[in-house]
Amino acid sequence: MAHTVTLIPGDGIGPELAEASRRVLDASGVAFDWEVVDAGEAVMARYGTPLPTHVLESITRNRVAIKGPITTPVGEGFRSVNVTLRQALGLYANLRPARSIKGLASRYEDVDLVICRENTEDLYAGIEHRVGRDAAESIKIITREASERIARFAFDYAVANGRRKVTAVHKANIMKLSDGLFLESCRTVAADYEGRIEFEDRIVDNMCMQLVQKPDLYDVLVLPNLYGDIVSDLAAGLVGGLGVAPGANIGTEAAVFEPVHGSAPKYAGLNKANPTAMILSGALMLRHLGHPDAAERVETAVRRVIAEGVATTYDLGGGAGTSQFADAIIDHLAAGSADAATTATPAATA
Ligand code: NAD
Repeated sequence: MAHTVTLIPGDGIGPELAEASRRVLDASGVAFDWEVVDAGEAVMARYGTPLPTHVLESITRNRVAIKGPITTPVGEGFRSVNVTLRQALGLYANLRPARSIKGLASRYEDVDLVICRENTEDLYAGIEHRVGRDAAESIKIITREASERIARFAFDYAVANGRRKVTAVHKANIMKLSDGLFLESCRTVAADYEGRIEFEDRIVDNMCMQLVQKPDLYDVLVLPNLYGDIVSDLAAGLVGGLGVAPGANIGTEAAVFEPVHGSAPKYAGLNKANPTAMILSGALMLRHLGHPDAAERVETAVRRVIAEGVATTYDLGGGAGTSQFADAIIDHLAAGSADAATTATPAATA
């Protein structure tokens, strides 16, 4: 039976990446019915909002969505659609794996980190105001409920995926109450996993330095919203940049899969941007939908195309366009199916 999935192409390079990703996912062996709905800067004039009600209704109904990046105006204009979506749908966990890809120039060869970022509160709660003309305040919200929930998500992820350690990242030496509560919540949850998953904590500035120098010391990281946003881009930089960094926003009622990068407006419509991050976000979606084998096939095909280095986009040193990159991945998927059929024949007749 086909999965009905909401597809939001997004702004800037989003539509090209969404089309490439849709074609790859359709070639993965899993059947999809795509419900395509638009959100972002492009629909402001038509609906008077960047996030029309029918978009939220589509995701709520289908429980799974994949989206391209959406532009957020800086300093003024509409509120981030991404932040609104995460809060409206209770997508409390932002999962961002950062894994080295062979053939991709980067400082290290064997980085394998998983970032679990709290997605609903902290400074991103959007509670801020001006204090007179020359000052402004943003309020940092940390609750025990949200902190324990993301910590449990990180530990459960570690157990389910055979990982060894969870590191909580904070600044509790300075923000003793807010980050102190986050750390205390992580420690409470860690006690339930004692003997199964190792636990430690790091102060966020020290963590950044250590990730740059010794990323192999770390495994699964759990962070409040702001540090999670920053550290996940750092982790993406360790494995080849934003063009290859996938992400997932997961809640109890819905999940939205999206690349870590933004809408890169200067490359919009040029068939130039790298579709890897959105395609790998699609692989995370395949796992979420219960198709780990198809996810593995897509990830392997992406890795092969990058390792060959022929049909890659400009940011990976190649000269191919977005759609040619996707074609090469689809060719690998088809060749993989043919290999599987050939090797399966003797067993089938035995
Ligand atoms: P960006 O990620 O869009 O682009 C930064 C640079 O990274 C680009 O100029 C380009 O050189 C490179 N890049 C990014 N994605 C790439 C890809 N797929 N292939 C090749 N190169 C790529 O970041 P920005 O310029 O800071 O943000 C642009 C807009 O995107 C802003 O409005 C921002 O708010 C928004 N944004 C949206 C999301 C989201 O929708 N989840 C995330 C981040 C930023």
